[in-house]
Amino acid sequence: MSSSVALRLPSIDGLLRHPACAPLLERHGRESLLASLRQLLDELRSSVLNGQLSAVEISPDVLAGRVAERLAQQQRSNVRRVFNLTGTVLHTNLGRALLPDEAIDAVQMAARYPLNLEFDLASGKRGDRDDLIEGLIRELTGAEAVTVVNNNAAAVLLTLNSLGARKEGIISRGELIEIGGAFRIPDIMARAGVRLHEVGTTNRTHARDYEAAISPRSGLIMRVHASNYSIEGFTARVPTAELAELAHRHGLPLLEDLGSGSLLDLTRWGLPAEPTVRQALLDGADIVTFSGDKLLGGPQAGLIVGRKELIAKIKKNPLKRALRVDKLTLAALEAVLGLYRDPDRLAERLPSLRLLTRPQADILAQASRLQPAMAEVLGEPWQVSAVQALGMIGSGSQPVARLPSAALCLRPQVSKRLRGRCLLNLEAALRNLPIPVLGRIDDDALWLDLRQLDDEPTWLAQLPQLQVES
Ligand SMILES: *Cc1c(COP(=O)(O)O)cnc(C)c1O
Repeated sequence: MSSSVALRLPSIDGLLRHPACAPLLERHGRESLLASLRQLLDELRSSVLNGQLSAVEISPDVLAGRVAERLAQQQRSNVRRVFNLTGTVLHTNLGRALLPDEAIDAVQMAARYPLNLEFDLASGKRGDRDDLIEGLIRELTGAEAVTVVNNNAAAVLLTLNSLGARKEGIISRGELIEIGGAFRIPDIMARAGVRLHEVGTTNRTHARDYEAAISPRSGLIMRVHASNYSIEGFTARVPTAELAELAHRHGLPLLEDLGSGSLLDLTRWGLPAEPTVRQALLDGADIVTFSGDKLLGGPQAGLIVGRKELIAKIKKNPLKRALRVDKLTLAALEAVLGLYRDPDRLAERLPSLRLLTRPQADILAQASRLQPAMAEVLGEPWQVSAVQALGMIGSGSQPVARLPSAALCLRPQVSKRLRGRCLLNLEAALRNLPIPVLGRIDDDALWLDLRQLDDEPTWLAQLPQLQVES
């Protein structure tokens, strides 16, 4: 047997008192530090017994360093900022619309202080949280009445259940859509207690198809914005005004789920036309539902607007209580809607609109400016070029429309066989940065669409930390 003295791990107490652990104690508290130290020592014990570790490796300084890393890892929040360079502006998986400063201030206020959420300051009596934004939404849409819930899926569910439970809901086969997996119109109808009565065909539905479906069992006619798919070619769709006239002739309400919808005509900013909420109501839709965090550019919410007596019915449904919005959302929503009162400055002040309307030349200039830094970090095996690219609005708005944009195109200069692996490694390395950078792989290259890169200094500063596995 060797004569060397067996190494022994330091004691927990000794470590806790060691100066190397003092800052950790201060920062994380005794309980977390103790738990981490215990865990680490337990893991090392057998290696020490087997003589696999040197004295330095189990010195208090080294052990404290390892524990510091673990504690920092634990402390890091799971909710993290990322750079969305995918080219999709309203990206559902990346949090959709970014809020303007006015809304962020309003959220802070609502989070920090008590507020008149359901309290009428004029009369001193109990109030209704919808009252806080009702006036503004009526003004911006021309609706008689308004109510707000957690998201548009909730708005559709609540509206259907309130107005059509145990009756038939008539809808065109071309509008029985699925939006992102869990939201399918036929399923939502079933959950709302509405019996689906589908009419027409996928590509063509006529007024006579709706008319033939109407019976004493009918409860409502529904129209859904096709959102994330488009039907082209031999198609027919009944205009809202005509459908509304038909519904009203038979005493039925017409619901229109606009999905994204828009409060203003987007063509004024050179964007593809989206139906506006005001127009849907003018055309005769009795209830219109739409999202708060799609083209509206606000917080996640579902807005239900339309005829007064129908909104009253919706508000009386006990489900409304289960689907209601919270105070932070209401504060943000009011602030965002307030910006719509000044359409001339909306594109400067509302981040989603500012990003959607960024000129391609501007984005291309940015790509050219950043190209050398990216090329230097990636080095030899990559070709880095500043090029035109096509992005999209996202969130089911205008699925076929493309936004002329610009990107850094990162192309591996390796044999075809190795390209896929190379791209995945780069993608992973970008995700591994302190603020993960998300792009998209297409046509044997990784594209970083720069439309949404407005914090260039932060992005550049972390770039040298990029480590791509080869
Ligand atoms: C996006 C969308 C929904 C769901 O809205 P959320 O706010 O995401 O719940 C419902 N209907 C249509 C047509 C949509 O485009």
